[in-house]
Amino acid sequence: MNAPTSLPVSMPIPGHVDPVPVPRPVTPREDGRTDLIGLPRPQIAALFQEAGLDAKAAKLRAKQVFHWLYHRGVTTFEAMTDIAKTMRPWLAERFVIGRPQVVEAQVSTDGTRKWLLRTADSHDFEMVFIPDADRGTLCVSSQVGCTLNCRFCHTGTMKLVRNLTPGEIVGQVMLARDALGEWPKGSMAGLELADEVEEDADEGSYTADGRLLTNIVMMGMGEPLYNFDNVRDALKLVMDGDGLALSKRRITLSTAGVVPMMARAGEEIGVNLAVSLHAVTKDVRDEIVPINRKFGLEELLQACADYPGASNARRITFEYVMLKDRNDSDDDARELVRLLKQYKLPAKVNLIPFNPWPGAPYECSTPERVKRFAEIVFDAGISAPVRTPRGRDIDAACGQLKTAAERRSRAELDRLAAEKQAALG
Ligand code: SAH
Repeated sequence: MNAPTSLPVSMPIPGHVDPVPVPRPVTPREDGRTDLIGLPRPQIAALFQEAGLDAKAAKLRAKQVFHWLYHRGVTTFEAMTDIAKTMRPWLAERFVIGRPQVVEAQVSTDGTRKWLLRTADSHDFEMVFIPDADRGTLCVSSQVGCTLNCRFCHTGTMKLVRNLTPGEIVGQVMLARDALGEWPKGSMAGLELADEVEEDADEGSYTADGRLLTNIVMMGMGEPLYNFDNVRDALKLVMDGDGLALSKRRITLSTAGVVPMMARAGEEIGVNLAVSLHAVTKDVRDEIVPINRKFGLEELLQACADYPGASNARRITFEYVMLKDRNDSDDDARELVRLLKQYKLPAKVNLIPFNPWPGAPYECSTPERVKRFAEIVFDAGISAPVRTPRGRDIDAACGQLKTAAERRSRAELDRLAAEKQAALG
């Protein structure tokens, strides 16, 4: 039916470091209905028009439906109380309001939550929520698996399965709001909640006051700049004042350094930038962040210097994983400072103690080493907080995301296959 026109086209991956093809994501739903989640207003209007509404009605309905979908988070057309009662079944026959399926939800002893999610075509990926005293950060995935193969990252040992669609990316944020009970209640005409609802609850943008989910980081599975179009389209819905209405200042996109896409990220998305730097010499960075062989340190730092919107008020975060005896010497710290100054970068450094995973070829630097490294950077006038590992007990910390299916060992998979065979025979 309408499915093909509603699907965004995925971006081809530039460069030779990514031999894995990225298949076109979505298979149309079997029931012929179209999932509206992930679509912007004009596309919703176009679908309504294709389904038979005249242009003016389609535009009006799209505006209403958009508000209900992204601002209020309703999951049925029946709940759209300002749409005529007869119109609601008409919508439900043709469209659905999707969410990623929750396979498993885990809570860490420190309050961090991790969800194992599944796409409609049965690919698993993860999302993490990290509550803090003054904020709550949702760590969102952009791909199922990853092509980058960073040596210290567990997700990097998964092969890339596919890009997530805009609906699957914005769907993570929507699911988190469902789980945290954080949709604005509002007081639209006809809504029967009026008693418990503050009059202005529906007004203005989504603020931090009293909210659990205040910030988003594109730091889950995948490289967001290798799925540029879908990430941009999803974040536009997140930032839309009549959508999820989260300020771009509360969103951070992290890249391992896909240099050719960085300027466009600044221009077309405009969120805060984080760069997974992790090393200051070619040799070490080539080894631990292999995309460095394609886009080297100088190019990367120049792209950071040129990043639209970066300023002292909106600094670029440089992530630096602390690997024992690999990148954690005093000289490394001093070289880091030198480079950041040479390129005049409005920078802050985020030191990440390495989170171990089974079979990882590195160890975490000692706490004394991390402290000393941080001091050198800090004494040069650059903020250098050490990121507290969160959710390690449920494998939710940086670099630990890898779905359960992929975590099974080869031997285990062979055993399962043999059992299945035996059961069939
Ligand atoms: N591909 C993007 C988004 C992933 S963000 C990027 O590379 O920036 C996840 C962050 O966690 C990155 O900075 C990554 O380098 C870091 N990371 C990966 N594995 C880690 C580990 N085992 N311990 C600590 N940090 C890790």
